[in-house]
Amino acid sequence: MRIASTLLAVATGLLGLVFLVGSQGQVHRIAVGGVLLAAALALVALPRLRPRRVEVVQRIDLPPETALKSLVCSSCGAPLSGPDLLVKAGTPWARCPHCGAEFEIQEAPRW
Ligand SMILES: [Zn+2]
Repeated sequence: MRIASTLLAVATGLLGLVFLVGSQGQVHRIAVGGVLLAAALALVALPRLRPRRVEVVQRIDLPPETALKSLVCSSCGAPLSGPDLLVKAGTPWARCPHCGAEFEIQEAPRW
């Protein structure tokens, strides 16, 4: 995409220069050349002005007394691993790679 926009900017800029060099004092040719050069500059500058992608990392803090258990799908009982876990609206969820079920991981009551 960036190469295509750069090539388009170069072509537009060259066309603008042709209009400016060959204007022979005609105002409308100078105007067209100026517009084409401005368009070429915009094609080069606008992709650089786009905001950078922001990566948000959410971490789940577990209390130190948390006992590790194997996590299994609540629908089919298949074992789940780290890549099957996701965070939706700030809560931990799991997506089963075997049956496709999604369910919220809930903390078991402590009593
Ligand atoms: Zn499942």
